[in-house]
Amino acid sequence: MLVHQILKSKGNDGVLTINPKSTIEEAIGILAERRIGGLVVSSDGASARGIISERDIVRTMALRGQGCLKDKVEDIMTRNPVCCKRQDTSESVLIKMTDGRFRHMPVVEEGKLVGIVTIGDVVKARLMELSMEKDALQGMIMGH
Ligand code: AMP
Repeated sequence: MLVHQILKSKGNDGVLTINPKSTIEEAIGILAERRIGGLVVSSDGASARGIISERDIVRTMALRGQGCLKDKVEDIMTRNPVCCKRQDTSESVLIKMTDGRFRHMPVVEEGKLVGIVTIGDVVKARLMELSMEKDALQGMIMGH
């Protein structure tokens, strides 16, 4: 399955981003309200300058305590995140996520942010693909 098919199956309600100058407290508010684990950091909604995930926040809280809540997202985000394209396969994205040990990946086309896929989206797509392959192979063996 290709990334654009995953995006389509998720529905097309745009990409949620946070400004690099926003505070960590604001990021926590969005993550909690939207029940998500990560946000693309962008000042214009089009470029993926960074990514901030719950892991970054937990790590910073452990190091600095509540004092970090007023810090800026850009202070703790991961810069230049690994991105994928709409034509990439779910398999290639899964490999990049596993190798890099992260669960979020912005989808960027011609320098413009067009979506985000999570490890959950990609695993779901791979399972569906493998199940279809299994059914097809079973059909061939049974002579259907
Ligand atoms: P996650 O597993 O996505 O919650 O992120 C784990 C760590 O990897 C955090 O430090 C994130 O900022 C970072 N991270 C998340 N997504 C990416 C990505 N696409 N490229 C590079 N780093 C990332």
